[in-house]
Amino acid sequence: MAKVTYKSTRGAQTQVAASKAIIQGIAEDGGLFVPSHIPKIDLPLESLINLSYHEMAYYVMKDLLSDFSEDELKTCINCAYNHKFDTPEMVDIVKKGEVHFLELFHGPTLAFKDMALSILPYLMTTSMRKQGITDEVVILTATSGDTGKAALEGFADVNGTRIIVFYPKNGVSSIQEKQMVTQKGENTSVVSIEGNFDDAQSGVKRIFREPSFNEKLNEKGLRLSSANSINIGRLIPQIIYYFYGYAQMVKTGEIKVGETINISVPTGNFGNILAAFYAKQMGLPVHHFICASNDNKVLTDFFATREYNKNRDFKLTISPSMDILISSNLERLVYEVVSGDTLETNKLMQTLEEEGTYTVPEHELLQDFYGYCATEKETMMDIKEFYRDNGYIMDTHTAVGYSCYKKYKQETEDERPVLLASTASPYKFGEAVLSALGEKVGKKDEAQIERLNELSKITIPDGIKRALVDEACHDYHCHKDQMDNMVGKILGIFQ
Ligand SMILES: *Cc1c(COP(=O)(O)O)cnc(C)c1O
Repeated sequence: MAKVTYKSTRGAQTQVAASKAIIQGIAEDGGLFVPSHIPKIDLPLESLINLSYHEMAYYVMKDLLSDFSEDELKTCINCAYNHKFDTPEMVDIVKKGEVHFLELFHGPTLAFKDMALSILPYLMTTSMRKQGITDEVVILTATSGDTGKAALEGFADVNGTRIIVFYPKNGVSSIQEKQMVTQKGENTSVVSIEGNFDDAQSGVKRIFREPSFNEKLNEKGLRLSSANSINIGRLIPQIIYYFYGYAQMVKTGEIKVGETINISVPTGNFGNILAAFYAKQMGLPVHHFICASNDNKVLTDFFATREYNKNRDFKLTISPSMDILISSNLERLVYEVVSGDTLETNKLMQTLEEEGTYTVPEHELLQDFYGYCATEKETMMDIKEFYRDNGYIMDTHTAVGYSCYKKYKQETEDERPVLLASTASPYKFGEAVLSALGEKVGKKDEAQIERLNELSKITIPDGIKRALVDEACHDYHCHKDQMDNMVGKILGIFQ
């Protein structure tokens, strides 16, 4: 089989090596990089069962990052997945009730974003070395709360990089904001914007596409890149844990090798679930994907009607990391659904930009996806009942994934085991979680954390303790239309 290279979903950029796609982040034509083909994992399923997380990481990524040497890739893996995680194998698989929770929140910032953002800086700096680039890379990131902190943590004080994070001022939890504004590291900047996450993301995408702005940067020896899940360096490491989770289910005797499972993923930008889809293409025995949304149920409607329509009110919910109306990574699925027709993908994305909507043709791939949504009330109720019945506290995002799984099971009567991507620690969304549990502890983060600790009996993670005591050291703020000026100011381009 030929080596994997990367091309744009919109067709106007020639194929590039993985390292180049990682540095660039987004293709020149505004499209997303997709693999030329998705390679089957290079080991029989039975042999995956006893791999450590590090070994699994290597086998999952080696053919996708085909221009990385074995040594380079293993070094990246070892630098990323270490004591920063509070569990020896990076993720835990916890069975409660009938659900296998794939706990992805054991990294430094307590959300699944750490799984990819702890390795991306190493993939990025290795890529630069491989491409002979001596420019400093400026990571621009829009965040609905979790990406920002995970990216800051990942890139802080990494040589040859700077990072600027934009977050919606009123769109993140109190702990999330504290985690970000207390970030250490000479090369880090954090900016709140007046606007929502989509505004932040669109603003970042616009900056990437401003030629004169980028020229000015280049003159200063700077170049932009992205840590959002549009970057394949972010997406690929997310495939690892689906294989690992499956392997653990076999190991503990919950399933037999080759048996199919369902995977439920609380979804926002469609990155995490897309990684699960790639895992299936690589040979993981998955039956259906449950695409779980909150009240911003644009994806639920999409899978029901094949029409994507972002023309609707944006709702702030208790699962803010999923408050998204433009799920960027869906473009990669759309590309598959139109059988790799880049002209067609381009046209659909143009329609999205101009009219806020597009409709895709039928394709059997779509039948693997079941979109459901959970209301705020259902989410809260499930947190409460699940705790009552199983003594386990789900965070608000994970709970959306659980509620949607219940709906799926009720509707389809599919009894297959389910792996639920548990995307954040309940400590990160304490206020909403406690209120779901019927606890009244007031607004203070400290009191909430203490109470959660009593109820869950889970040690308070270091990342939370630090966010509470560290001094805030970032206070930039700007309007959503002024983001480019802000970047210029931070980088010293506009005085
Ligand atoms: C980012 C995030 C999601 C959504 O993941 P996508 O890859 O954007 O679909 C869900 N839950 C949490 C806690 C997150 O941080």
